[in-house]
Amino acid sequence: MHPSPLVRELERRVGREAVLWRPEDLMLYEYDALSSRRAPDAVVFPTSTEHVVEIMRLANRERVPVVGRGAGTSLSGGPVVAEGGIVVSFARMKKILEIDIENQRARVQPGVVNLDLSLAVADAGYYYAPDPSSQKACTIGGNVAENSGGPHTLAYGVTSQHVLGLEVVLAGGEVIHTGASFWDRPGYDLTGFLVGSEGTLGLVTEITVRLMRRPEAVKTLLAIYNQVGDATRTVAMLTAHGITPAALEMMDGVTLRAVEAATGAGYPTDSAAVLLIEVEGLREAVDEQADIIEQVCRRNQAREVLRARTEEARARLWRGRKNAFGALGRISPSYYVQDGVIPRTRLPEMLDDIERVAQRYGLLIGNIFHAGDGNLHPLILFDSRDPAECERVVEAASEIIAKCAEMGGSITGEHGVGLEKNELMPLIFSPDDLEMMRRLKAAWNPDGLLNPGKVLPSGKMCGELRIQVSMGSGASTSAVNGRLPSRRRERVGSGGGLP
Ligand SMILES: Cc1cc2nc3c(=O)[nH]c(=O)nc-3n(C[C@H](O)[C@H](O)[C@H](O)COP(=O)(O)OP(=O)(O)OC[C@H]3O[C@@H](n4cnc5c(N)ncnc54)[C@H](O)[C@@H]3O)c2cc1C
Repeated sequence: MHPSPLVRELERRVGREAVLWRPEDLMLYEYDALSSRRAPDAVVFPTSTEHVVEIMRLANRERVPVVGRGAGTSLSGGPVVAEGGIVVSFARMKKILEIDIENQRARVQPGVVNLDLSLAVADAGYYYAPDPSSQKACTIGGNVAENSGGPHTLAYGVTSQHVLGLEVVLAGGEVIHTGASFWDRPGYDLTGFLVGSEGTLGLVTEITVRLMRRPEAVKTLLAIYNQVGDATRTVAMLTAHGITPAALEMMDGVTLRAVEAATGAGYPTDSAAVLLIEVEGLREAVDEQADIIEQVCRRNQAREVLRARTEEARARLWRGRKNAFGALGRISPSYYVQDGVIPRTRLPEMLDDIERVAQRYGLLIGNIFHAGDGNLHPLILFDSRDPAECERVVEAASEIIAKCAEMGGSITGEHGVGLEKNELMPLIFSPDDLEMMRRLKAAWNPDGLLNPGKVLPSGKMCGELRIQVSMGSGASTSAVNGRLPSRRRERVGSGGGLP
């Protein structure tokens, strides 16, 4: 087998060792953590902005799609090619270029792993705040593209609040610099526009981020409940008391039993739900807040409120939470994780609704929430070898997401739109909203070569969740994936309606 002319030209521009093209190598790049679609024509590993410019110029000349890739942990199909083309993997652009503690910022290449940045500045007493549960693997470039959040974004905001500037290679191969490190640049906020654009406007080659000082004190509480409703009511009441914890996470009984079996984090397996609550700041304020939180939890029938007494105990509780998706994979051949947002005051109602959906479709659903943000992650457990069950999973997921939109929430909180939910965008945006987004995209990506088929609805389908549930053997224990026959595409209603 011989490399194609496109591959030869890529090799000439970035080096032979920087290009994959054999089918057995490309297979690894068919996937993200959600789905697989088709293999790219080539995968290329640039080590510099100049390489990325060269790749983009070639793609333009040959009219070939280009899809950026970080660690491939996306849960919405973002780095998976929809129409073939070149995958640009940033795995070799992983240098921390500059750490400027005095000015509380760092400049990094996009392939830097999220947690590695915090580890690099830990000795100086600093960290990088956005902390997706995938932070041991996912890259800052991927976080920028998805505008990722995490447990601590309740207090500190999502990625967009921590990105100060970007270097971006545009569709035509031009290089632009957005934002500024030390002052507020006049003109349009291009950084804000690019963060969350899921690789459809340009390839990010450098990122300047804000570093935060570690708080003087941190207190982590675990509130344990016999009724799910008591836990969700606590969330609403905490905010009513004017308390914004640094993190406010919820797991239901299904989830915490799986987590405990997998991690031994110390969660009570006989309870219906737990809240993991963290407050941080000045020592005296933190103690006072922890006391108020405990009172509010007890007033809402928490049967116990535990406090992590040591850093080790705190780390153990977080290890359980951050490994929760994987833990559920141990008790089910496959699962499909959803990502919706609702006003947090409606959590009790939404949880009842999810339970009704589970019963109606005969499915087990584990719930993990960034409860403080109203960001839900129902994980629908199923066996991908059962075609009828696969169909019920997609229907159940569609209903849950449509309900989020109906409640005035969103179809995604942090996992992005990708190719999973682009047909659902009309549930939360008007035709005029979408038309303006299309025009902006056309200005940046005029030939549609950058990550085609993502984010905006194709217009070919109407209000459909574009997940294709695995029906093959050997389904993975992460999100729904595998080689997927596209035999069923589910309607979740058009124009905002329910099915
Ligand atoms: C177990 C698990 C837990 C997770 N928890 C969270 C969570 O708590 N919060 C959260 O927000 N997400 C979470 N995610 C989803 C995922 O980790 C995030 O979306 C993450 O930001 C993706 O980063 P990545 O490096 O893996 O990017 P990829 O998956 O490789 O790519 C994501 C998107 O970014 C684009 N992209 C990547 N690099 C660039 C670049 N340099 N320039 C332009 N576009 C680029 C890709 O084309 C794609 O559209 C979780 C995923 C898993 C599997």
